[in-house]
Amino acid sequence: MSSQHPSDLTDVLKSKKDAFQIPDGVIYLDGNSLGVLPKNVPDRIAEVVREEWGTSLIRAWNTHSWIDLPGRTGDRIARLIGAGKGTVVACDSTSVNVFKVLSAALSLRPERKVILSDNGNFPTDLYVASGLKQLLDKGHELRIVDPEGVRAAITDDVAAVMLTQVDYRTGRVHDMADLTRVAHSAGALAIWDLAHSAGAIPVDLAGAKADFAVGCGYKYLNGGPGAPAFLYVAPEHQDKVTSPLTGWMGHEAPFAFDLDYRPVTGINRMTVGTPAILALSSLHAALEVFEDVDMTDIRRKSISLSELFIAEVEARCPQLELASPRNPEARGSQVSFRFAEGYAVMQALIARGVIGDFRAPDVMRFGFTPLYLSHQDIVDAVGILQEILDTQSWNRPEFKTRAKVT
Ligand SMILES: *Cc1c(COP(=O)(O)O)cnc(C)c1O
Repeated sequence: MSSQHPSDLTDVLKSKKDAFQIPDGVIYLDGNSLGVLPKNVPDRIAEVVREEWGTSLIRAWNTHSWIDLPGRTGDRIARLIGAGKGTVVACDSTSVNVFKVLSAALSLRPERKVILSDNGNFPTDLYVASGLKQLLDKGHELRIVDPEGVRAAITDDVAAVMLTQVDYRTGRVHDMADLTRVAHSAGALAIWDLAHSAGAIPVDLAGAKADFAVGCGYKYLNGGPGAPAFLYVAPEHQDKVTSPLTGWMGHEAPFAFDLDYRPVTGINRMTVGTPAILALSSLHAALEVFEDVDMTDIRRKSISLSELFIAEVEARCPQLELASPRNPEARGSQVSFRFAEGYAVMQALIARGVIGDFRAPDVMRFGFTPLYLSHQDIVDAVGILQEILDTQSWNRPEFKTRAKVT
């Protein structure tokens, strides 16, 4: 489109869009679910495959430092989430990492039996907690309260408070520093899931004194479908915890092939098996785009984009009801609107190149990724949304058939 929104003229992140491959005619509002392909990634993967794997073969574990890639990738993520070097490792999936850090946290509070979470948490985190509870068979209780009730529910029987900082449906943000402080004063540990925070909003794990954190590599970090996740352990816990998955990569000397498990010191003890080098190479390369970016610039633009989106939708699409907090400080980098036929409207939007997603029962979700979206994109997207609603062009059978992935 030819017009340009005035806010785009002063956008300090404007040039970052060139680092991404965005298909023509697409306005991508789903970077909170699967980030866009950074342009440097295909060449980097080809190089790892052809040169490193193809030519160096097994030697590449040393000559190309494959063995250190989980930690090197973790260090790139650390800067974005307020963590020090050597406190973050990229490995496994978020679900598996939840299992590991929750188990580690519970082992630090053996006399306490309550895992506290909220019903805004992403279901996989709760499923994993419930599975771990059964496996441990030590009488743990998974206590699930309303997000607003978490603070008051942190009682002195709680071992671990396990929360997702940014609600995946509404974008509501928990106050990490405050809840971590309350958890500590009750003698509990704080575990944060940063799936919708990392790369989206400034996070200060060290400042908040968080004990453990996990997060996702394929959302705002643009690591590619199913990219490795990450895991953080506060320095003071690193040598006190053991992973419940005692694989050889967490061993002090994997290539000594001892019959007994001895955990290595530091964050690597939370790793399990051979790292997925192709997937990690993609994530590691994707993080390059963040290297010279200040998270406060990302936050400023994210708020500007989302405020513009809300204002435009409310002015032009009165059928939709805001499901996200109105105060931008209480929101992550996404905005959701409720509409009974939200699924069909979203399919109609996607057919017109405006890609967001849908979360049952009626939430239309739009993610704002300041690295590759402009204010003009927002205005154009809402224009298309308005047209779809005004003409009811969503009201067709092909837009109402639910796909496997929504
Ligand atoms: C996306 C997301 C996950 C995904 O976990 P996977 O193991 O990668 O499937 C977990 N937790 C939260 C809060 C998420 O938003």
